[in-house]
Amino acid sequence: MAINDPADKEALLENDRKYVWHHMTPHNDNPMIVASGDGSWVTDVDGNRYLDGMSGLWCVNVGHGRKEIAEAAAQQMMTLAYATMVQAHIPSIELAAKLNAWLEGEYRIFFSNSGSDANEVAFKIARQYFHQKGKPAKHKFISRHRAYHGNSMGALGATGQAQRKLKYEPLGVGFSHVAPPYCYRCPFGQTKDNCSLQCAEAIEQAIAWEGPDSVAGVILEPVITGGGMLVPHEGYLPAVARICEKYDVLLIVDEVICGFGRSGRKFGHHNYGVKPDIVTMAKGLTSAYSPLSATAVSAELYEVFKSGGDTSHFRHVNTFGGNPVSCAVALANLRVLEDEGLIARSAVIGEAFAARLARLREHPNVGDMRIFGSAMGIELVEDRDTKEPAKPERVAAIVAACKSKGLLIGKNGDTVPGFANILTLSPPLSSTDDDVDFIVKTLLEVFSVGSISSK
Ligand code: PLP
Repeated sequence: MAINDPADKEALLENDRKYVWHHMTPHNDNPMIVASGDGSWVTDVDGNRYLDGMSGLWCVNVGHGRKEIAEAAAQQMMTLAYATMVQAHIPSIELAAKLNAWLEGEYRIFFSNSGSDANEVAFKIARQYFHQKGKPAKHKFISRHRAYHGNSMGALGATGQAQRKLKYEPLGVGFSHVAPPYCYRCPFGQTKDNCSLQCAEAIEQAIAWEGPDSVAGVILEPVITGGGMLVPHEGYLPAVARICEKYDVLLIVDEVICGFGRSGRKFGHHNYGVKPDIVTMAKGLTSAYSPLSATAVSAELYEVFKSGGDTSHFRHVNTFGGNPVSCAVALANLRVLEDEGLIARSAVIGEAFAARLARLREHPNVGDMRIFGSAMGIELVEDRDTKEPAKPERVAAIVAACKSKGLLIGKNGDTVPGFANILTLSPPLSSTDDDVDFIVKTLLEVFSVGSISSK
């Protein structure tokens, strides 16, 4: 809904300046006020339309304005708006069964509100599991630098991005980090052709150095998304899974972004043929139409929580987790993803980016382009030979140029000192051919000037 009277917009902005604390950003006195969304497009209060190239925060997988999801929410609100997850209710039962089918395995589903919650639950379940297996010392988690796993004390502890932690430490304890699988700047000096998966070996070394008897789990995204779209060698995840099995360490796969079709498969880890012990999910679970997350725990692990005294069950509750309306929304969302073939569509979108944006790879400021399903990272550099990361002003100029042409894109990396140089795109999986044309055309136009000026 556009606002016709400029005074109304000024009043909104005044209240925003006075009362709203924005996420992850220095206060902006003139934020874009988004008023409505339809398909891949959002409209601001001035009536300007933008293609939502990041699906919000990598989450609106089925696109905006889905009536069938709104109707499912309204219907469920009128039938039963709330029941606790201490009890049972129909939408959570149906959704847990559906998620099992999507996961292609046997999992128990614990519902929460956010991706951070889902990861906190995973950490607590992993620790309690080992307690009840008679190995209480196994409490540590290995993660990777550059990874993001959430904003709460444990999930931020698992996060490997220095700037996000600054001024909030000490965080949850027991998390250590190893170098990420970052092929463009391989921390081990290897290339794709001579890669011996030292990044996976680093996880084995960390487990050995920490002491296998003290390590409960490894947490990872199939592809580090928010930390710069770091797509690993195809052998990486299977190698990590083998290491976890060798040391009786749980493999926790964070599918908060990679899940629900973003990768071109139902879940990101399906691309690598591994079977995680725990899978965490949020965002695309409801396409962000309503808050909901889930921690899927293998049936084998769950068995350990079934008997053994007063404290053997998982003593964790949250008021809103598994809310019936959110579960109904998730079910409607999964139906859209299935009925419209949006998982296959995600792969098609990524293939179109790879083919039609190939020219960008030759641009003097483009060091690398990485695509996973329909998510893309474009790593910008000052110099292709030295790989010096592009200066923040250069990256900001490109983001602004895209916005001025009606395309919203993301910018990642600035949570790591010295890096603010990775453009990200992750459009709705429902993006039409025209939408994809628009993204491609806009990026080619913005980059066509040779070296992009930061002025
Ligand atoms: N895990 C990953 C990979 C994420 O990208 C995010 C959020 O961006 C989270 C966890 C945390 O999710 P939430 O913001 O819903 O707490």
